[in-house]
Amino acid sequence: MNIEEPKNRGKVYLVGAGPGRADLITVRGAELLKTADCIICDKLANPVLLKYARPDTEIIHVPKRIGRGSCKQDEINKLIVEKASDGKTVVRLKGGDPCIFGRGAEEAKILADAGIDFEIVPGITAAIAAAEYAGVMLTDRNYSSQVAFITGHEADGKQESSIDWNVLAKFPGSIVFYMGMGGLQFITDQLIKNGMDKNTPAAVIANATFPNQRIGKAPVSLIAEKCRRENLEPPAIVVIGKAAAGDTKLDWFMTQPLFGRTIVVTRDRRGNADFAAKIIQQGGNPVEFEAIEIKPLTQANQFLQALTKIPEYDWIIFTSANGVAIFFDSLQNLAKDARVFASVKIAAIGTQTANRLNEFGIRPDFVPGIFTGKELGSQLISHTNLQGKKVLLLRSQLASNELVDLLQQAGADVDNVPIYTAVTTKSDCAWLTEKISSGTIDWLTFTSPSCVRAFVDQVQPDLVNAGNVKVASIGPVTSEQLKELGVKIDVQAAEHTIDGLLSTIEDSEKPKT
Ligand code: SAH
Repeated sequence: MNIEEPKNRGKVYLVGAGPGRADLITVRGAELLKTADCIICDKLANPVLLKYARPDTEIIHVPKRIGRGSCKQDEINKLIVEKASDGKTVVRLKGGDPCIFGRGAEEAKILADAGIDFEIVPGITAAIAAAEYAGVMLTDRNYSSQVAFITGHEADGKQESSIDWNVLAKFPGSIVFYMGMGGLQFITDQLIKNGMDKNTPAAVIANATFPNQRIGKAPVSLIAEKCRRENLEPPAIVVIGKAAAGDTKLDWFMTQPLFGRTIVVTRDRRGNADFAAKIIQQGGNPVEFEAIEIKPLTQANQFLQALTKIPEYDWIIFTSANGVAIFFDSLQNLAKDARVFASVKIAAIGTQTANRLNEFGIRPDFVPGIFTGKELGSQLISHTNLQGKKVLLLRSQLASNELVDLLQQAGADVDNVPIYTAVTTKSDCAWLTEKISSGTIDWLTFTSPSCVRAFVDQVQPDLVNAGNVKVASIGPVTSEQLKELGVKIDVQAAEHTIDGLLSTIEDSEKPKT
C-alpha cells in the first residue's frame, strides 16, 4: 500500500474587515491578523488594519473583482489554496462581511473542495454600518419590519438581471442596494416603472464610517440626479423605503464637533498613530506629519549607571509615556523587569504616562492634578517632604530645568538623567504646505516644544499665521515655544494631555449658542 506522507496543511480564515473605520473589525478578526503568516487583502478592507500584522507576515493586495466569473477571482482562489497548501495560516481579509456580496461563499467552497480547513469570521456589513452612521434605522416597529439586501451590480443594465423588479417595487420594508451607484438611474427607473411611489424616500450614504462620509437624501425619483449633481461617488449604500427619510435627531456621527475636521498631528510616528486613533474616534480626519523622531539614550553611561542604583532612590519621576516605554524596552534588553523598582516610589506626569506605567504593572504613587513639569514639582513637594530625598528624573534630554530647580529648592538630591531625545525628521513637506495654503487643513496640533521646533524648521510660521488653519497647543511650555517662534495660538488645552487637547479643540468647534 502506498501511504502518502500527511501534508502539513494550513488554515484559511475568511475575515470580515468591517465597513471602513479600522476599529470596527471584530476582536476575533484583529487577533487573527496578529497570527497570520499571510494576509490576502481586498481593496475595500482598510489598510490601517495591517498594523496588526507581524513584521514578517506576507501581505498580498488583490485587485477589486471585476464582474461575475472574472479571471481575477480565479486567480485569488488559486492563491488562497496555494498559500494554505504551503502550510500557512492565511487571513483572507475582505471589506464588510466576507460573505455578503463578498465572494466569501465561493472561496469557502473552493477551500472545502480542496480539503483545506477554514473558518469564517463575520464582519459588520456596509448596509448596517452605513445606515447606523447616518441615523437611518433599517428596521422600525412602526414602518419597516423587513429588510432586503440587493446587489445593484447586476442592475447596471449590462448584464441579465436576476432581480424581480415587480416584487421589489412592492416590497414593504427597507431596500438596501450594494454596488448601486453605477446603475442608480436604472434601478430607480425600474422601481417606479413597476409601481413604486415616486415620492418614496431614498438615501445614499457614501464612504460610510469615514470622516469623509456623505449623505444624499431625495425622493426615489430624484435621488440619481441628486447624486450626479452633488458628485456622490462610490463606495456607497443606497437605502430606499420609509426608513431612508431618517430622523435628524438620530444623526449622531456627522454632528460630532470634530466630524470631517482635518487635524494635523506633529509628533513622532508612534505618538502620531496614538493621537490619530483618538481623532478618528471623534469623527475627525487625522493627517500625520512626523515632525520628530524619538531616539533612546539608554546606551549612555549616565542611564546605565542610574539603573544599577535604582534601589537607592526614594522617588523616580517619569514625565512622558515615551520615557516609560523606552525605560521598559531597555529593561527588557538587559533581561530585567519591573522588580528593579523594589520599594522606590514613582511619580508620573499625566494620565498617559500613568497608563503606560500601568501596562507594565506599575501603579504610580503620585500623579499631579495638572499635567506640567512645574505642577508636578510643586504638587509633589506639598504631597511629601523631599528634604534629603534622592530623586531620579527619567525624561527627555530637551526638557527644561524648571522641575529640577523646584525639587532642589525643596531639598531633594536630584539626578536628572536623559532617557531619550527628539530629533527633527526632515521629510518632504511640500504636500503639507500646499494643504495649509489651500485651506484644506482645519487644525495644527502641537504637543511639545520639540515638535514645534521641528515643525517650524520645515514650515514657515507666516504661512500658518496667514491661512485659515487654527493652532492648538497642549500646554504652557509648548505655547511658550510657539510664541517664541512667531506662531499664533488659537487654543491651549485646559488639561495638558492629548485627550485634553482634543476636547479643547472640540469645544472650540461646537456651535456657539
Ligand atoms: N462584503 C462587503 C460588500 C462588498 S460589495 C460588505 O459586507 O460590506 C461592495 C459594496 O459595498 C460597495 O459597492 C458599496 O455599495 C458597499 N460599501 C462597502 N464599503 C462601503 C462604505 N464604506 N460606505 C458605503 N458603502 C460601502
